[in-house]
Amino acid sequence: MFHTPIIKLYDYNNNKIFVKRDDLIPFSFGGNKVRKAVLFFEDILKKGCDSVITYGSSSSNHIRVVGNFCKKYNLECTAVTPESDDDSYNSSLARLLGVNYVKCNINEVSNFIESLIENHKAKGKKPYFISGGGHGNIGTQAYVDVFSEIQHYEKQEDTFFDYIFLASGTGTTQAGLICGKTIAQAKNTIIGISIARKNPHGKDVIYQSVKDYLIEKNIDSSKISNVILDDNYIAGGYGKSNDAIIEIIKEAFYWGLPLDATYTAKAFWGMKNYIINKNIEKKNILFINTGGTQLFFDALKVIAK
Ligand SMILES: *Cc1c(COP(=O)(O)O)cnc(C)c1O
Repeated sequence: MFHTPIIKLYDYNNNKIFVKRDDLIPFSFGGNKVRKAVLFFEDILKKGCDSVITYGSSSSNHIRVVGNFCKKYNLECTAVTPESDDDSYNSSLARLLGVNYVKCNINEVSNFIESLIENHKAKGKKPYFISGGGHGNIGTQAYVDVFSEIQHYEKQEDTFFDYIFLASGTGTTQAGLICGKTIAQAKNTIIGISIARKNPHGKDVIYQSVKDYLIEKNIDSSKISNVILDDNYIAGGYGKSNDAIIEIIKEAFYWGLPLDATYTAKAFWGMKNYIINKNIEKKNILFINTGGTQLFFDALKVIAK
């Protein structure tokens, strides 16, 4: 476990806002994808695979991190990515790390990946496939562990986070926190701010991930706490932004916190509105900064214009 710092950011609407700085994890600029990848690469090394295939957009933090671990362990890395994508700091870093990007029509992803895996095997390679964003029980485990870290902090500081907010994409991170909460029978309210998916689909995927994990671990899944996913801050879809999001990035950076337009600024924006709309006061609120420092600099290019 990393035990990333939790710091008090500021007071908002008479609440104390804290941030867990998962963007400061000490590998490849951090972020939630590092936590997931650490566990995936344990599995990859154990299984003796020699190559990794994964999926993501060109701005994907996941691909950068997987590419970085592949470089470190000397494994071949192939990233399937949608045809229409522009370059970003993440894709530049991934290329620097030797990630081989292959473009694919967004409607043919699963067949494309399947044939890629078969191709690798036909060449005598031993490929390992990681779902986009590190989705799956291994990815979920990473944030079950984070929930323990949060509880550790609560105990040590004799405090309690009434609310925990985070950016939800594939929902794996949120699913992990919910599993952790379910296992610990804790009372924190966990609120995901969706960065792309609409409900009910968004919620359903998270619920299914929670169930899959608990079943694999033989834990009673009838006690799953309800899934809260706010889908009001998608701003047109994955990677799409607007003026409100850019304003949030500026404001948070005045507090010394780098956010990005794809994930964390949407979540921060959603958190602020949620607090006001629900008249939340006198609470301790934890925002998990799930990372994406490169994407902060991509946003800075827009801000600086
Ligand atoms: C991937 C990502 C998320 C979303 O995580 P999921 O587990 O896919 O929901 C949130 N924030 C950042 C910075 C990310 O890179």
